[in-house]
Amino acid sequence: MTKAILVLNAGSSSIKFTVYDCDTDTAHVTVRFKGQIEGIGTQPRFTVEDRTGATIHEDTWAVRPAGRGHAYALERLAAYLDPQLPEDGLLGIGHRVVHGGPLFSAPVVVDETILETLKTFVPLAPLHQPANLAGISATMEFLPGVPNVACFDTAFHRTHSEVVERFALPEEFYIEGVRRYGFHGLSYEYIARALRSIAPEIADGRVVVAHLGNGASMCAIHQGRSIESTMGFTALDGLPMGTRCGQIDPGVLLYLMQEKGMDARQIEDLLYKRSGLLGLSGISNDMRALMASSDPRAALAIEYFVYRIIRETGALASALGGLDGLVFTAGIGENSAPIRERVCRGLAWLGVHLDPVANEGHGPRITTSDSRVSAWVIPTDEEQMIARHTFTALHGR
Ligand code: ADP
Repeated sequence: MTKAILVLNAGSSSIKFTVYDCDTDTAHVTVRFKGQIEGIGTQPRFTVEDRTGATIHEDTWAVRPAGRGHAYALERLAAYLDPQLPEDGLLGIGHRVVHGGPLFSAPVVVDETILETLKTFVPLAPLHQPANLAGISATMEFLPGVPNVACFDTAFHRTHSEVVERFALPEEFYIEGVRRYGFHGLSYEYIARALRSIAPEIADGRVVVAHLGNGASMCAIHQGRSIESTMGFTALDGLPMGTRCGQIDPGVLLYLMQEKGMDARQIEDLLYKRSGLLGLSGISNDMRALMASSDPRAALAIEYFVYRIIRETGALASALGGLDGLVFTAGIGENSAPIRERVCRGLAWLGVHLDPVANEGHGPRITTSDSRVSAWVIPTDEEQMIARHTFTALHGR
């Protein structure tokens, strides 16, 4: 039997959604159609495309009063979906939720009590969690009777040891939740599973996955389980990103407060929105724009990005006690042969020997057959991971 599953990724100003057909006998999921509502709070624009990428619906409306933007966007989406879905409707709705706190190491079916618990994690992810939860509240209201499943970006990393989770701070902070959680977990989980069919020879080995998108992080995976990540308490740590700073000496923050008089909001704006590739280059947060630029500041930003990936790979390989495989994924990882080449050349000492022709062709394997460490390009699919989790949570397989 085929059932439909809706996957929602509700961000601060946009809602992305995908409707999957799910074969309940095989648990196989395929995209039926997908779309997004962008510009919530400014200029809402609703677009839907079919599985070939052709636009099948476009719509705009006036901005709602503050606080109702997400709810209204979901109401429009529910109204659009209703006639498109099979007669027996939706099996369930899978939501991307950035933070599951210390409690959730797996997806969970959301009821009012769980929703209240998830709200207590808002201080841990103030920029993302409120929008994610607004998506759940809205589907509870506009698609009543359809179960909601929360899938967490932190859950895959709950296998980390205590020493990996700790900061060197007094214990009271750890107990109240000041921990290194790690993010992009749905992407890493997808890749860990994909390795079983694409690269079975390393699927049970020691693998570093580089998720290089607008947000970027890396994860050390051993026998399919996360053991370390470059991201920590928030999605700011580790690699430099489009507009986020990545790893920074906390003393810099003290300097900004004490000597520059900056308050928390100004520092938040600096670290999340004005740093990273944008901050270094002064030109753009977009890797393609930087690669097309002849400005030396663009070159510096790219060099910093590559250098930090190489540096973190060394640290993660140490955490793993060696390295068998390296995987590139997300926008930059999947599409930029020059960035992959520079990273792999910087890791030649570790036994990564690039096959330039395979790299130009985007792999999947991009190292020579005698390379001690194999490197791979594997497109990630967080939405599909959410759809599969939603099916398992509701169907029990
Ligand atoms: P998000 O984190 O928003 O999902 P993506 O995974 O879509 O981001 O990645 C966006 C990044 O990928 C942007 O910096 C974009 O410039 C970069 N990118 C996409 N295609 C290429 C390419 N061919 N070469 C270099 N960078 C690319």
